[in-house]
Amino acid sequence: MARKRSAIDFQFGECIGEGSYSKVYRGVSIHNHRTYAIKILSKSHIHRENKRKYVNIEKDTLNILGKHPGIVTLYYTFQDEKSLYFVIDFAKNGELLSLIRKMGSLSETLSKYYFVQLIDAVEFIHSKGIIHRDLKPENVLLNHEWKLMITDFGAAKILSQEEMANGRSMQPIDEAGREMSNQTSNGSFVGTAEYVSPELLKYNICGFECDLWALGCILYQFIVGRPPFKGQTEYLTFEKIISLDYSFPKNYFVPPQVEQVIRSLLVVEPEKRCNIEDLKRQPWLENIDWDNKDFIWRTKVPKLE
Ligand code: ATP
Repeated sequence: MARKRSAIDFQFGECIGEGSYSKVYRGVSIHNHRTYAIKILSKSHIHRENKRKYVNIEKDTLNILGKHPGIVTLYYTFQDEKSLYFVIDFAKNGELLSLIRKMGSLSETLSKYYFVQLIDAVEFIHSKGIIHRDLKPENVLLNHEWKLMITDFGAAKILSQEEMANGRSMQPIDEAGREMSNQTSNGSFVGTAEYVSPELLKYNICGFECDLWALGCILYQFIVGRPPFKGQTEYLTFEKIISLDYSFPKNYFVPPQVEQVIRSLLVVEPEKRCNIEDLKRQPWLENIDWDNKDFIWRTKVPKLE
């Protein structure tokens, strides 16, 4: 078995990002010379902000998920007196959100390329009994080949064996979940409101279906350049979500088959929302050989436009 790693096994480079209780650095292993992203979390901050649960959930989910091309791999974790260290895949090309912003919106071809990868990764996550619960373009990173990797499992829910066996997918939000992580002590919502599902807002429940709702929002954003539900305030965004108040802009050409996929996902009742199996059979995705993982993950990225 490999020796346990520690900070001295890496040469630390520049800081590549900051979260609310973490800093992410580029780091090169002195053993295999591979570049990683090293997320450093301050123990005192985690303790002060009572974030231990979310840090553990992130670590546990990544350990359960292991290696999948569409999900960041957690290679090592270690700690010293002050900090926790997560050594993960380095996403050279940053967040998918930045790419959408830079390009305005994505072409149909590029949208399909990324949407297919998203579906394959989300299906894998669900197959392991995990609901991500915070899917959004900010939490999708791009590697050196511009292929995507889902990250940020701090709001995820890990279903028990029993819950999996019962086929239960509608999980009431518990204290490890999104509603706590995204609520301040005075109860106001923090974080990105735009991708939250109506059932979470109305009944505080979030099952596998809430990830499918988010996929609908993300596909809309690929094509239109902004999420479908966006009000002046969070409250107005929530109102729009609950009343399914969105439309396709007149000045954009939205291919009818893409619109069909978005409409099948943006369905208020979770039980009537398109599930992954049916999503894969939508006419827009008809030509995809879902069993051919090489096709999904090895095909070169189409022209970035
Ligand atoms: P918060 O904790 O506030 O929700 P966050 O989840 O974005 O923020 P981190 O996961 O610590 O926090 O990431 C901070 C930033 O570092 C991100 O915005 C992202 O741009 C960058 N980053 C995170 N992981 C990687 C990675 N594996 N490769 C490259 N950059 C990364």
